[in-house]
Amino acid sequence: MTSALFPTYARADLAFERGEGAWLFAANGDRYLDFGGGVAVNSLGHAHPRLVATLRAAIEKPWHVSNLFQIPQAERLARRLVDATFADRVFFSNSGAEAVECAIKTARKFHAANGAPERFRLITFEGAFHGRTLATLAAGGNQKYIDGFGPKVDGFDQAPFGDLDAVEALIGPNTAGVLLEPIQGEGGVRAFPHGFLRAVRELCDRHGLLLVLDEVQTGVGRTGSFLAIEQSGVSPDIAALAKGLGGGFPIGACLATEEAAKGMTLGAHGSTFGGNPLATSVGAAVLDVVLAPGFLERVARLGSVLRQSLAQIEDQHPSIIESIRGEGLMFGIKTRVANTEFAAAALKEKLLTIPAGDNVVRLLPPLIIDEQEIAEAARRLGDACARLRANGAAQ
Ligand SMILES: *Cc1c(COP(=O)(O)O)cnc(C)c1O
Repeated sequence: MTSALFPTYARADLAFERGEGAWLFAANGDRYLDFGGGVAVNSLGHAHPRLVATLRAAIEKPWHVSNLFQIPQAERLARRLVDATFADRVFFSNSGAEAVECAIKTARKFHAANGAPERFRLITFEGAFHGRTLATLAAGGNQKYIDGFGPKVDGFDQAPFGDLDAVEALIGPNTAGVLLEPIQGEGGVRAFPHGFLRAVRELCDRHGLLLVLDEVQTGVGRTGSFLAIEQSGVSPDIAALAKGLGGGFPIGACLATEEAAKGMTLGAHGSTFGGNPLATSVGAAVLDVVLAPGFLERVARLGSVLRQSLAQIEDQHPSIIESIRGEGLMFGIKTRVANTEFAAAALKEKLLTIPAGDNVVRLLPPLIIDEQEIAEAARRLGDACARLRANGAAQ
């Protein structure tokens, strides 16, 4: 039977019935090692006892109350995010794109509140991905996603990836800020050159611009620090979170300093579902785990273990793997075969991975992964490479 869904996704003919930690089980009992994590969403794996207990308890209470009333769960989660980051204020949404939209609006409104509404343009980078709403598509600048959807939303100027001179050249009287992913996710796990983020911060300071981060994929511990930007010692003005924040429950958040949020006054923004008790309860439980002493250090350490395993596989299969990149538990394998072919070979070994741009295959395991599971994933990746070589995919 044909599907009643929009045919907008290329879906594998595979459904999962049960999940436990880093593992997913198909209806026929086959067991898959999940190094895709629902695209960096299942930060604590599947059926994490703490998240299950939290959601169970939340389900017995009101699922939804409007933002016309106090929502203590949202207050608590916002307070924790503020305590853990650069931010003073938080706005909750339901998705990454909405969190980035709020970040864009917050940046524009900041300048409007300062009496400079003409400063609304954001500088973004080639290869970026910021979501699929009309504005975030324009910010990402991927023509393939923009074509056919009418006039592109105005207000975004794109610089070549990592090109500081280009950023400086794009700064004009209408510029509000710079919007970037500290490590591009969909773009292929691409990190900016060393010192680049600091240099962008300095440019922003010199020109009165806001540094706006899209940490929808890199945030909430994915790279071994709570926000990826912390590793460059740079403090942003605004940052968007989502994916890993709910561990599988839809939630997004826009974080801002008091100063950057100054335009977001009464009535300036809103969301019906954003910050509801279910989502914010689960978000707080995710933070209980991720911010527990030693957790992020463990992510960083396991990241090094995974990196070493991947380097070995790269050495053994140079005809299949071109390079390894990434930070914490966010890795990209740049392949010499088509990345989709590589992901298909990994799937045959019952290892889930996620293709990305730049012919990269992403590994985004749950942050609760252990060394045995990393070793198992490495074995399966090695087998996938051997399978591809046997198929004569590359010589
Ligand atoms: C996934 C992603 C988004 C969009 O998130 P949605 O929840 O799909 O709207 C935005 N920015 C980055 C960096 C992402 O990885």
